[in-house]
Amino acid sequence: MSGGGESLLIRGAHVLTMDDAGRQWPRADVVIEDGIIAAVGPDAAAGWPRSFARTLDGVGLLAMPGLINAHFHSPGNLLKGSLDGLPLELFMLYEVPPLADRGSAGRIGYVGTMLGALEMLRRGITAVHDDAFHVPVATVDSVDAIMRAYADAGIRATVAIDQPNIVEYDKYPYLRELLPPTVMRAMDAAPRQTTAELLELYDHLIDRWHGAERGRLRAAVSCSAPQRVTQDYFAALSRLSREHDLPFNIHILETKLQRVLGREKFGKSLVRYVHDLGLLDERMMVIHAIWVDDDDIRLLAEAGCTVAHNPVCNLRLGSGIMPYYRMRGAGVPLCLGTDEATVDDSINLWFVGKTAALLHTIANPEYRDWPSATEVLHALTRGGARALRQEGHLGQIAAGAAADLALLDLDTAAFTPLNDLERQLVFCEDGSSVRYTIVAGRVVFANGRITTVDEKALRAEARTLMAEQRAVLTRATDEARRLEPYYRDMYLRAAKEDVGLDRWAH
Ligand SMILES: [Zn+2]
Repeated sequence: MSGGGESLLIRGAHVLTMDDAGRQWPRADVVIEDGIIAAVGPDAAAGWPRSFARTLDGVGLLAMPGLINAHFHSPGNLLKGSLDGLPLELFMLYEVPPLADRGSAGRIGYVGTMLGALEMLRRGITAVHDDAFHVPVATVDSVDAIMRAYADAGIRATVAIDQPNIVEYDKYPYLRELLPPTVMRAMDAAPRQTTAELLELYDHLIDRWHGAERGRLRAAVSCSAPQRVTQDYFAALSRLSREHDLPFNIHILETKLQRVLGREKFGKSLVRYVHDLGLLDERMMVIHAIWVDDDDIRLLAEAGCTVAHNPVCNLRLGSGIMPYYRMRGAGVPLCLGTDEATVDDSINLWFVGKTAALLHTIANPEYRDWPSATEVLHALTRGGARALRQEGHLGQIAAGAAADLALLDLDTAAFTPLNDLERQLVFCEDGSSVRYTIVAGRVVFANGRITTVDEKALRAEARTLMAEQRAVLTRATDEARRLEPYYRDMYLRAAKEDVGLDRWAH
């Protein structure tokens, strides 16, 4: 064995491979060496030339690829349940207040990131694509706090720096007319990072962390959304993405207001805007893509983008329904994400899969086209792998792929009696049947316990840290309340516009 990774045998499990052939065995072995799946199949371990550092008895367990949470923002981790449902523009006002420091640096960043990672590992989510924002500015310390947490937690993480660099009122339509001059001056004075400063942080993220922990940690880039960054920064991020083959996180047309904004500010849809800049490409993971028209969908398909669908978040924020059938018809590949813990407060990707399977039935009477369990499972595993630029390496149990697995107890309510495994995974399982989570060949969760860190101590620290932050959070909420009337006017005005399409259910 080379490279220091432990060898592990999972013996006699029911194996759902999610491989190209869709193979499934009621009883098979998974052989893991050095973080990689060395062999899989019935009796794969028989006569294996080397002994194993550890053997797990897989009888009665299902071994499947770990789920991949394709869209997430770790800085929301400590704020679950803190807001009622609100439209995105009002939600962001409270969540990322434009005129206040929410206090996300230092230990808060580490502990918050960690708790989210552990919550995911407990549910068999082995990889996360984190579009991490920093309030009010990103620093080497705030980036490192997040990366160190992922290193220590043991989850696989691909992380971007999501830092808009446009003045707040220019990210939206109408605000220049609606806001009083004093507020606009305060927004002008709020900290914003230059392209050079942000690119320096990206150099740090890539040099220090891209490929760290034997490839378990990786970098991505993010512009947050096209309307939130300057064009020179946007183009520089695209260059970085090409140079290092990094996934590019970009929120496009999550809301109707953003469709209005595209028209008002750029005279075109935001998808077409990105396309016309020459930046739409196959490394882009387009997040949400709800208020897209057929021309947008064609451009996404032609460019080879993956779309990250976050149905629980979309419902929580009343964003509307992603045009699932048009997307599928055009051949746009999908992955699934929870989005942040303030909009999918349980970080439960199982529930996201079930919601994806259910939501789109209301948009189409042709029941034969409704999302199937197989399709949803594919989006939860291989779809995420594609978005991470790790197709073939993640999202399946196959020789040569990364050993990222979830082992589920089949002796639970979800699988009793076992009628159809894939349907029961999507419609019955909520993550509570997960007994072991394995990332890069390492058992990081076993029988109800995280093996990498002291989870109880971290939860206690989170409570203390948040109690200390109370005054800062209250100030931020007060700031948001003061601005809410202007944002509400803007939101209602955009809601009334005719944009030629409708993604709300009536
Ligand atoms: Zn997001």
